[in-house]
Amino acid sequence: MSKITRRGFVKSAALAPLALSSIGEMAQAQATPQAGHAGTGDRFDVVVAGAGHNSMIAAAYLVKAGYKVVLLEGRPTVGGGVKTAQFTLRGFKHDTCSTAHNSIQDNPMLRDNEINLSEYGLEYVYPDPVYHMPFADGTYITQWRDLDRTCAELAKFSKKDAAAYRRMYAEYESVSPMFEAVTFAPIGFGKSLNERLAEHPKGKLWQRLTAMSCWEIIRANFEDEHCRAFMMGCPLPVQPVINPMTGRSAYGIFAQQRHSRPIPKGGSGMLTEALAKYIEAHGGVILTNKAIARLIVENARCVGVECVDGSAYRCDKAVLSTIHIKHLVDMAPRELWGQDFIDGVDTWQAEVQMFVVNYATTEPPTYPVAEGVIKPANSGLVARPDCALRVAYDFARSVVNLEEPPLAVHCTTSADPTRAPAGMHTIKLVGWQPYELKEGPEHWDVIKKQVADTCLNYLRRFSPNLTDDKILAEVIQSPLDLERMNPHNWHGSCHAGAQSPAQSGALRPMAGWSQYRMPIPGLYQTGACTYPGGSVTGAPGRNAAVVMLKDFGTSIEQVVGKTKKA
Ligand SMILES: Cc1cc2nc3c(=O)[nH]c(=O)nc-3n(C[C@H](O)[C@H](O)[C@H](O)COP(=O)(O)OP(=O)(O)OC[C@H]3O[C@@H](n4cnc5c(N)ncnc54)[C@H](O)[C@@H]3O)c2cc1C
Repeated sequence: MSKITRRGFVKSAALAPLALSSIGEMAQAQATPQAGHAGTGDRFDVVVAGAGHNSMIAAAYLVKAGYKVVLLEGRPTVGGGVKTAQFTLRGFKHDTCSTAHNSIQDNPMLRDNEINLSEYGLEYVYPDPVYHMPFADGTYITQWRDLDRTCAELAKFSKKDAAAYRRMYAEYESVSPMFEAVTFAPIGFGKSLNERLAEHPKGKLWQRLTAMSCWEIIRANFEDEHCRAFMMGCPLPVQPVINPMTGRSAYGIFAQQRHSRPIPKGGSGMLTEALAKYIEAHGGVILTNKAIARLIVENARCVGVECVDGSAYRCDKAVLSTIHIKHLVDMAPRELWGQDFIDGVDTWQAEVQMFVVNYATTEPPTYPVAEGVIKPANSGLVARPDCALRVAYDFARSVVNLEEPPLAVHCTTSADPTRAPAGMHTIKLVGWQPYELKEGPEHWDVIKKQVADTCLNYLRRFSPNLTDDKILAEVIQSPLDLERMNPHNWHGSCHAGAQSPAQSGALRPMAGWSQYRMPIPGLYQTGACTYPGGSVTGAPGRNAAVVMLKDFGTSIEQVVGKTKKA
């Protein structure tokens, strides 16, 4: 991560800059009970290697079931991509990675309150307006929680497109329970997506739609360029919008029409802080600064881990890893994995990477609208559909694109003022730029400041109030910095690797190993490398718990007090 740069004037001693990003993590660690005690001689049922939100969710179910669990995290604080830290100035709580917690709203853990995290401090805020997109010609589209109000925004450009938005929302609502059912179940547990779609009157059409590209669907349903760009703003690249099998992303905006873009009050990290408190309240042990160096394998079974500091932690039932598979395979002798697993790891591909700049400011980004100005928590810049379409080609050629780059702008303090000192704001500016550069990824350290300033100046064309004097400090996270910050962000991949057809469904992480059980007996894997992939869904975590509890002779239904459905 870059050093903190002070851009404007720091107006009060209370806003003194923090020396290094890790101090932000330490400030968070002091606020929460995240470092327990355990001797290396202690025995556990389960050792959890790495503490991201997924492995913590799995751990929460395991401790609820009564198992003795220890979590070992390499960083000073738990949470991985779901963390909040004061990494610019004191009192400014920045989401170090994720901000929007959309998909996890449909996870039975939250939806059915299987793990009661509200008792441990988790509370969601639902921004309204949800999302705003300004255009260079001075026009704009705002998404509101109210469907009619959002449709009226599209109708300014095309009545047909407004009708398409309303129709597609209803169509997606009718089918989304089927997508959710397969997302929150391990592969092979319950009906497949196609079996479920066969029960839907338009199931065959949905099979086609999911196989199409996002762009094909948007182009077929929307005629106006503003409306098309708006529809491309929400699925902004997890996968390039022209890739096959990205069709469901064209409906991504409807999930936020239903849920808004929920953010935990106090910061994204409040989710993992609540999980940490839950785990410890149920007898789990959490140890930080415990980077894991190798797996302990005895009699061909994984029975624990050894840390870089020489400490070792052993378990009677299982090791659950969320270490990236590219690193995991080096932690045990190669022959134990089997050639098909090694082949799967060797061919694993990175994804379209993010480039992030975090600002501490005295104002939120404001955009001119008919009524005056709007100060949304979420906005996006896709000047024209071409700007999103070219992302795939730029990445294929390792080109840094600074010509009207697609950007997402998060100013969570507009919806949740608890995240900054009174009247102040945090802004997260997200672009998409390749990790691989012609000069090598290290070249990011040379160019990142220039890239950051170009992105900011582009944003200022739409939000002119963000002048230098409003910006108190900035921290830049290049794709290389994102990998340095969390080894699970392999090659800057914020979702651990491409969510392409080759690395999705039963192919994640690879064919034959999609059920969280790894080739070495006693070893399980969860997190973004596993089905259904990255983002804050908690699905790999809950799904891994489903499989582990079954293997331990119980079931998640028994643990949460639900009767198992036939
Ligand atoms: C900049 C950015 C913005 C994002 N924005 C969003 C968003 O708004 N919404 C959304 O849904 N998703 C977003 N994401 C993606 C999301 O944050 C991740 O996909 C998700 O957090 C991954 O969770 P996980 O549990 O799989 O693993 P991680 O959160 O990556 O956790 C893995 C943990 O394992 C630890 N670890 C790894 N190796 C070792 C080792 N050897 N020893 C010990 N510990 C180890 C790591 O330190 C880490 O704590 C964003 C990601 C980034 C980087």
